[in-house]
Amino acid sequence: MEKAEIGLIGLGTMGSSLALNIAEKGHRIAVFNRTVSRVDTFKAEAGPLADRIVPCHSLAELAEAIRPPRPVIIMVVAGKPVDEQIAALREMLSAGDIVIDAGNANFHDTVRRFNELEGSGLAFIGMGVSGGKEGARHGPSIMAGGTEESWRRVENVLTAISAKFKGEPCAAWLGPDGAGHFVKTIHNSIEYADMQMIAEIYGILRDGLGMGAKEIAPIFAGWTEGRLNSYLIEIAARVLGADDAKTGEPVVDIILDRAGQKGTGKWSVIEAQQLGIPATAIEAAVAARVLSSMKGERLAAENAYGRNVSRISEPKKALLKHLELGLLAGKIAAYAQGFAVMAGASKPFGWNLPLPTIARIWRAGCIIRSQMLDQMAEAFGKDAATTNLLMAPTFVRMMNEAHPSLRRIVAVAAEAGLPVPALSSALAYFDAYRQGRGTSNLIQAQRDFFGAHGFERIDTPGAHHGPWGHDQ
Ligand code: NDP
Repeated sequence: MEKAEIGLIGLGTMGSSLALNIAEKGHRIAVFNRTVSRVDTFKAEAGPLADRIVPCHSLAELAEAIRPPRPVIIMVVAGKPVDEQIAALREMLSAGDIVIDAGNANFHDTVRRFNELEGSGLAFIGMGVSGGKEGARHGPSIMAGGTEESWRRVENVLTAISAKFKGEPCAAWLGPDGAGHFVKTIHNSIEYADMQMIAEIYGILRDGLGMGAKEIAPIFAGWTEGRLNSYLIEIAARVLGADDAKTGEPVVDIILDRAGQKGTGKWSVIEAQQLGIPATAIEAAVAARVLSSMKGERLAAENAYGRNVSRISEPKKALLKHLELGLLAGKIAAYAQGFAVMAGASKPFGWNLPLPTIARIWRAGCIIRSQMLDQMAEAFGKDAATTNLLMAPTFVRMMNEAHPSLRRIVAVAAEAGLPVPALSSALAYFDAYRQGRGTSNLIQAQRDFFGAHGFERIDTPGAHHGPWGHDQ
């Protein structure tokens, strides 16, 4: 039988979609799944693409079915299952073959796996794939890390299946070992911030203005015509417009307000802290998901304190304009933080992450795709020294126009008793970032007072101590 060009393990939501995408682009693919019956069902349901699918009932069969040098994509639940698959594959593959982990791995695991395989002759690519089921099926954004040489060997298949933005593939090699999975992790954390801010705006409309889901849906839909044009705003409008089949009510109204998470947000926050890069809007979004999961405690607190949300009296038309512009400002600050974390990670991890390329491959296919990412790609591309988006001239102009609206909506929400943790963190970050003289002179004085840590003076170089009147 004709050999396959590539193999794939894990025919779950993402793996089955990726496999069909690969077959559709003309590549013969060998597939294997832990629950082996799924392999035959998959082929049987592949319609006209079935001819390019080689069903394998064991890993040995899979290895045998692929033409060397064999690339094998692993698309299983992240963590231990990936290590188990790699260990099993090591027995079947030989020098020159490439193992590609396409799940949402923690990049520290990817670095470890890369190092473990180095020297065995097998190459390892850690690859972030974004776009959910639809993206995987019809064109995801692909963020790869490993050796550039191993990427070159699989580039044609992976760029063929990726999303295209004005004809440009949204797939790229981003650096050695864990670079691709790190970038995917930060992508997801920006997604957390984006979604949280949209939810906060929804909260202002629902609880501050008393609007129903059906009234809010067209507002979001209208914003997709402007600078907020993005996948997440688009699906927010669609979700708000959908009815529940059982009750006939808007489906969002019967969904429990408890958000799940799988770890990429938390990992990003931990890395940002380790690197010493402020990512406060992202941190607020991750914390908001955690707080959302504490439903019982929140209900008890509401009993203890009362909800005390008041209606916003600001004229609706003016407020809607502020909400649109304020969300834009909040988004810019969150993206600035995400990109700053990637810029900060480049050196310690030896990745030299290409910010313009990252912005470019996020313009289509991935969950955070938006019109603004095209402007970000241009901004980072114009000036290699720009590591914080807030310093790129286009974004200075946009923030100058939009931050007064962010300030307005944060103030209005605070007055009304509505929580806007991500939007207010974004505003505080922006205000602190642009403050040439802040207030940490007082902190330094206190540190010197209690711990003799010393401080710098504004007028004389060197370390100094204060006149505290006690032994330091
Ligand atoms: P699914 O739950 O749909 O599928 C999981 C797959 O992993 C199945 O093929 C399952 O096999 C296999 N599997 C689970 N445990 C083991 C194990 N111990 N050994 C071997 N195989 C195992 O998950 P998804 O397709 O959604 O996710 C796969 C990866 O892609 C994850 O890392 C996820 O984080 C990532 N991802 C998911 C996205 C999404 O939108 N869903 C988006 C981007 C990335 P079996 O059929 O036998 O259970």
